Amino acid sequence: MDPKTLLKELISIDSINPFRTAMKDGIRYGIGNENKIADYIQDILKNNNFTVSKQTFQKEAIVETDYNKVAVVPERFNIVAEKGQGEKSILFFAHLDTVDIKEDWNSNPFEPVVKVVDCKEKVYGLGAYDMKAGIAAILAATSKVNPQGYKIKVAFVADEEFWSFGTEHLLKTNLLNDVELIIVPEISDADKKTEFPSIILGRRGRVEYEFKIKGKSTHGALARVSESAVNAVHESIKLQGEILKYCQESEKTFSFQDIQIKNSAYINYHYGGKGVISIPEYSRFLLDRSFIVGEDAEKELQRLTEIVIQAQENGVIDNRAKIEINLRNRPTPYCRPYFFDPGIPVIQKFIKKVNKFYDGFEFGVGYSVADENRLAILDIPVVSFGPEGGNCHSPDEWVDVNSLIKLTDFFKELVNNWTN
Ligand SMILES: [Zn+2]
Repeated sequence: MDPKTLLKELISIDSINPFRTAMKDGIRYGIGNENKIADYIQDILKNNNFTVSKQTFQKEAIVETDYNKVAVVPERFNIVAEKGQGEKSILFFAHLDTVDIKEDWNSNPFEPVVKVVDCKEKVYGLGAYDMKAGIAAILAATSKVNPQGYKIKVAFVADEEFWSFGTEHLLKTNLLNDVELIIVPEISDADKKTEFPSIILGRRGRVEYEFKIKGKSTHGALARVSESAVNAVHESIKLQGEILKYCQESEKTFSFQDIQIKNSAYINYHYGGKGVISIPEYSRFLLDRSFIVGEDAEKELQRLTEIVIQAQENGVIDNRAKIEINLRNRPTPYCRPYFFDPGIPVIQKFIKKVNKFYDGFEFGVGYSVADENRLAILDIPVVSFGPEGGNCHSPDEWVDVNSLIKLTDFFKELVNNWTN
């Protein structure tokens, strides 16, 4: 099987995550759109002598959507498969969904275009880099192999780009019980210093804090004279300034060899006021915070609460405003930061194989969260090692064909000689 042809087939199957959910009896269902691509992959795996199973985490149902409309939610599932025999296994992991189509594509996102740009042969298409090339590499590399003394497992999950319902379900199954290394041919958004591929050893974590500000309304015409009015939008904006100042002052850096990665924060949502002649009584904003290893979301919540109390005590924020801070409510846990030391024996083994096959490599830590953050909870070493590409979550997403072929050949080499 040729990974380039496979990639083109995969791109032509729409697996955009609709980023919509529906509620029934207090349970949140994802609408999803991965079944067609999952069926396609399932057939390939069966033809390649894998024992395949479907991990269904949501049954088809008729439910109410967030907008009080009735929706049919489809069955949703991960595809997992294995072959070989042995006590230990290695797992190749990929997600099936893509993000939506961003504006200004120069071609049809579902009709792969192959073009030479900057002396590189590139395939353009939605999900080319994130992460259908990774799927193609896994399928092509494992098609013929007949593992001896160990097992190869593969997991293709749904919903990575949204709430990660697929991986959260996977973690509850026993698929990972005997896995010694997880390999994820996912995008690398780490700072690159060389032209060599990155072995991503960790990722930042990410949490959202929700701030709710309650003020007190009066007629808008009395804004300057009313003693009792508390403008929730004004207090909210001042508070955002205080919070961002604190985040800047508490900047921290994670360092490993020549990797340096910082924590960061920004406001990703702000609401308040109705645009009428009344003092806004309510405002809400979300602080999106990325953490490095060693930081703790709950401790940070305490710290943020202290900042608010201080700001109200010293009069920066009106002390009559009622301010609540919480971790944003979400259906799956937030992503914790992680980092695996390259000295861990199984990672050493992986690195040695990379070193033998490629002219060089570098270590990286990803800026963005991914399902690897969730897998890392189990303490099974996870490495992301993907092809070269660009424009993920943007128009004209592409992947470099040579790097895809090289990655496939490397995976072949890896699975054929894992126990040597
Ligand atoms: Zn991805």
